[in-house]
Amino acid sequence: MKNETRKFLFLGNHPCLDLINTQLTVKGEPRDLLESFDDLSLWLVRARLLTATQAEAAKVHLKNEEAASLLEWAKTFRATFRVVAERVAAGKTVPNSTINTMNQFLAQRPGYPELVRTEEGFKRRFHSLATPQVELLALLLESASDLLSSSHLFLIKKCANAPCILYFLDTTKNHTRNWCSMQMCGNRMKVAAHYRRSRGKSPL
Ligand SMILES: [Zn+2]
Repeated sequence: MKNETRKFLFLGNHPCLDLINTQLTVKGEPRDLLESFDDLSLWLVRARLLTATQAEAAKVHLKNEEAASLLEWAKTFRATFRVVAERVAAGKTVPNSTINTMNQFLAQRPGYPELVRTEEGFKRRFHSLATPQVELLALLLESASDLLSSSHLFLIKKCANAPCILYFLDTTKNHTRNWCSMQMCGNRMKVAAHYRRSRGKSPL
C-alpha cells in the first residue's frame, strides 16, 4: 500500500483527538494527512477503530464516488470535532446544535447491544446493522461522543505552542502536560523561554 509509511500522529490519548490531529502545521504550513479514502481507511485501522479485515471488507463494497463522498463526510465531522475541541479547551460550552447534529447521524445507525465472550470474560458491544458507509462515519461520531462523555473536559487541551494546532487528552498524574510532544513543541518552547529570560527576546 502506497501510504503504508505515512506517519499519523497518535499522541492525543483518544481516537477523536487523534482524528483532529490528522490536520497539522509543518513549518507554519497547514497539512492534511487524509488525502484519500485509503488514508482514512488506514487511519481507522491504525487508530484501532477497525480491523484490517473490516477495512478491506468496507472498501470492497464501496464504489469510487461513495469512497470520495465518505472522505468528505469524515472531513466535515473532523472539522466539527475540531471546533468542539477548541471550545472545550477554551472553557466554552459546546452548542446544542452540534450535539443534535451528531445525534441525528447516530440515530441512523441501526443495531443492538450484544454480549460477547472474550478470552478475558464477557464484553458488551454494539452489533451494527448499518451500511458500511454509515458504520464507518458512526465510528468517528462514537469516538467524539465517547470523548465528551467519558473524559474530564478540562483535560482536553490544545498544545501550548500557539501556532501548533494539535490536541490531546492530558492523562498525566498531575495534569501538567502542555505540549503535543516534547520533541515537536516542548523543547522548542523551553529553549525560547530560556532565550527570552537570558536575552530578552525570542529566537522563534
Ligand atoms: Zn505542539
